[in-house]
Amino acid sequence: MPPSSTGQQFPASSQGLQMPPSSTGQQFPPSSQGFQMPPSSTGQQFPPSSQGFQMPPSSTGQQFPPVSQGLQMPPTTGQQFPPSSQGEQLLPPGRGQQYPSSSQGQQYPPSSQGQPLLPPSKGQKYPPSAQGQQMLPPGRGQQYPPLSQGQQLPPSSQGQQTLPPGRGQQFQPSSQQTPPLPQGQQLPPPPHGLASSQRQQFSPQGPLTQPQQQSKGGLATFPPPMQSQTPNRPQKSAINPDAMPNPIDELKNARTEFQTHVNGVSPPPVMMNYSVKEAVNCSPRFLRSSMYNIPISSGVMKDTKLPLSVCIQPLNKIPPQDQLPIVNTLPHGPVRCNRCRAYMNPFMYFINNGQRFLCNLCNGHTDVPQEYFCNVDHRGIRADKDMRPELNFPSYEFIVNQDYCRNNKFPETPAYVFVIDVSYNSIQSGMVNLLCRSLLPLLDNLPRVDGADDSDIRVGIITYDKSIQFYNLKDSLVTPQMLVVADTEDVFIPLLDGFFVKPAEAKSMLQSVAEQIPAMFQNSRHTETVLGQAVKAGFLALKEAERCGKVFLFNTSLPTAEAPGRLKNRDDRKSLGTDKEKNLLQPQIPFYKNLAKECVKHGVGVDLFLFPNGYTDVATIGCLSSVTGGSIYKYSHFKAAQDGARFCSDLSANLNRAVGFDAIMRLRTSAGKFRFASIRPTDFYGNFHMENVTDIELATVDSSKSFNIIIKHDDKLEENRLVHLQVALLYTSINGERRLRIHNISFSVGATVQDVYKSCDLETVLSTFTKIAAYNLPLNSPKNIREEITSQCAQALASYRKHCSTGSPPGQLILPECLKLLPVFINSFLNSDLMRGVEISIDDKSWLRHLMNSMKLESLLTSLYPRVLPLHNLNLESSNEPSPIRCTRDKLEKNGAYFLDNGLVLFLWIGSKIDTNWLMNVFGIPSFAELQPESINTIIKLDNPLSEQIHHIMGQIQARKDRCLKLIIVKEEDRMEPWFNYFLVEDRNRNHPSYVDYLCFLHKQIRELLE
Ligand SMILES: [Zn+2]
Repeated sequence: MPPSSTGQQFPASSQGLQMPPSSTGQQFPPSSQGFQMPPSSTGQQFPPSSQGFQMPPSSTGQQFPPVSQGLQMPPTTGQQFPPSSQGEQLLPPGRGQQYPSSSQGQQYPPSSQGQPLLPPSKGQKYPPSAQGQQMLPPGRGQQYPPLSQGQQLPPSSQGQQTLPPGRGQQFQPSSQQTPPLPQGQQLPPPPHGLASSQRQQFSPQGPLTQPQQQSKGGLATFPPPMQSQTPNRPQKSAINPDAMPNPIDELKNARTEFQTHVNGVSPPPVMMNYSVKEAVNCSPRFLRSSMYNIPISSGVMKDTKLPLSVCIQPLNKIPPQDQLPIVNTLPHGPVRCNRCRAYMNPFMYFINNGQRFLCNLCNGHTDVPQEYFCNVDHRGIRADKDMRPELNFPSYEFIVNQDYCRNNKFPETPAYVFVIDVSYNSIQSGMVNLLCRSLLPLLDNLPRVDGADDSDIRVGIITYDKSIQFYNLKDSLVTPQMLVVADTEDVFIPLLDGFFVKPAEAKSMLQSVAEQIPAMFQNSRHTETVLGQAVKAGFLALKEAERCGKVFLFNTSLPTAEAPGRLKNRDDRKSLGTDKEKNLLQPQIPFYKNLAKECVKHGVGVDLFLFPNGYTDVATIGCLSSVTGGSIYKYSHFKAAQDGARFCSDLSANLNRAVGFDAIMRLRTSAGKFRFASIRPTDFYGNFHMENVTDIELATVDSSKSFNIIIKHDDKLEENRLVHLQVALLYTSINGERRLRIHNISFSVGATVQDVYKSCDLETVLSTFTKIAAYNLPLNSPKNIREEITSQCAQALASYRKHCSTGSPPGQLILPECLKLLPVFINSFLNSDLMRGVEISIDDKSWLRHLMNSMKLESLLTSLYPRVLPLHNLNLESSNEPSPIRCTRDKLEKNGAYFLDNGLVLFLWIGSKIDTNWLMNVFGIPSFAELQPESINTIIKLDNPLSEQIHHIMGQIQARKDRCLKLIIVKEEDRMEPWFNYFLVEDRNRNHPSYVDYLCFLHKQIRELLE
């Protein structure tokens, strides 16, 4: 018999890359992608972790803790937690340094960094609220320290906020801000007009203030109408826009610090440059939840009318001081719970003198493997705790063994294949020439391991038109050799030896091929291409070389040549916005999706760089990226002279960013009573592939990607216990190491709807709605999807009103404090090109859909509420960005100039009364009349402080982006201005409702729901 669940070693599987070995015989459905769980070793069968657990067969002497009491604790009465640093203590390595895979007792050099997140050194004490205590559940009768329920929210997040008329004033119509609705529009007038009440606390222009009387749960309130008893009397327009909740005022008042050890509090806004303190739970930059008090039951959950969802950005950029510790677990692999397979983390609790541990997720007992054993003190704390990042930090990386590798073999270093369209259009646009000139310098910057001279990543080159050309770059050749595969029906790889090279070792060959390609194809008359088979060729090269990695495709046209993957032109702009739109957002043939699934099986991601002059069917070829976790860039009507810098910048940023390959991600969730999973992940949104119901498969994943997972209740939670989540991302690093990145987080439980609404997270709610909408666009009409979102918003706000604000006058619009900006963002999303655009191409819509599916939160927020920065009154002494202003035309002055950044385009709007000195300093042009925006692709840096300052601001904006912004100059009342106006999202544009209109509409729906 194989070893039983105690003290066993993880079996070495011979079956492909595995999810962690199960030691309890838990069986996962076999994946068709070579990711397999090892066979059960004991013949016991457990369902997958997210589907409920059975009691394990009893092991000898095993005792389960009383389920209702939290984990077992050492001595009970009157106990005090001494600082955990008593006894002998060794300082761990600094953050970001690698920890050796030690048993206890090893010596580490003292850290010289002394970051606050490190445990205290000898003689020091943890501050009362620091992690030492947090990780320990209290014993019977004890109270949880601040981390648990009963948390007092700061007044600002509990208070009721009333909106918005002036003191004692009735709302005055503000016709210029809220122009009359166009004919035929469905938006009703504000039901009663929103007038002041005795409770309102707002001055007409002043910021939102807090009233003295605070009720449970955060409220933002629209005062009741003055004349609610005469509801049928038509009221003039209603709301003072200056007093409406808006992201700009919100940011001014936001916290700049987030303490993760305080449960039940949502993090600061995504757009805030906040710091994370007390790292008990993982940073919100990696994971945010729509709720920080998880509803106790599905009943409370339903009553909130909001989704319980997490937004995971597993490789997101973080400040340098917060870099993750890396733990080498070789040769044994990480320690895991036998029952649910969760990884060792700070919330696991050691018992039986350190011989076993209790899992924080499922309550399961696991014997501590011999090599991991360490003595514990009377509180259950291991003597080596401070040396083990996985017992101290919420996020960390394990370097793992062959059990976590495909075919039980450590991976080769990843490779990139550049697949370049060399047909007529590509050559004419200048793309091929520019790419070939830029590629070699860009390859110099491929990511490398710290301290290494060169990157380990290998590269290979393929070109294609009607045939496919491979290049042999072997150093023994005099010049590169081109091999042509003309039979594109059944593509094969004509060479492997010499195809992949290390750029640092093959510079002259790469240089030579980069010079020859544009020359060889400069007179090409081929307009038809075999895109699908060219990507397949790149994939096969990686597959045969047994390397994971990426295919970078550079393509200009619809693949119409006779070969598998050939596409028809089915462009039909008239169908945009209609019921037929969804058909064009679905792939026209299954070829590309099937190829992408093959790519995922072998850890090959696909990034698309598209340079179309016409329809290229992004909905179909985009599957290559959306299924593999890749990115799509689109440069319509590309001209190298105009768009070349942007393209090179995008390619450079893509090649340089943090990236993982051949990845698999799983979210594990808390179990409750009787060891059944009380909550579990059910729905997954983003760009990835899934073969089973639990694992997100990503051929490639990088810092710009996010994923949303909806979580549902299977059972009631326990009010006094924390709910735990653990995200595990298994991936191959740029130097071919197999790594596991773990993020841990805990939440308190909310017993009532009020508890839940105290700490909802706007950003996660938004990303859930927008990702679900993007997912549904190929399945439903945009109109139905828009109505559904509005209905969900209204239901949530009505539910809040019903459960949390019962004493308020019925005519009052009341918004929960934490979600008071939901209407402005949702209205912007509903009016966006993705949801309503009929003036864009169907390819652009597919592309926007792809972006929205995986957009990280910061990008999402900027796309929904662009940042508008005034540039005409800059403080030239300051290096700070100017403060952003609200995104409405009312705030733009005729003598002003403003940047508007929506994440894809950076507009520079210039008012007609702009100071001529300003124009002279920035453009070298003496008058507004002489400014010709069409002829300006870039703002040239001139030798004066204003010009330098504007360039500095542009640099700051761009530094936060994953892709290069396209600069567009717009003069007031110029022909481009309507396009610019479209991104002033508080205003009414193209007959789409303004923010005020939408708020009134929502108010009416809420009233109907309550009546
Ligand atoms: Zn477990």
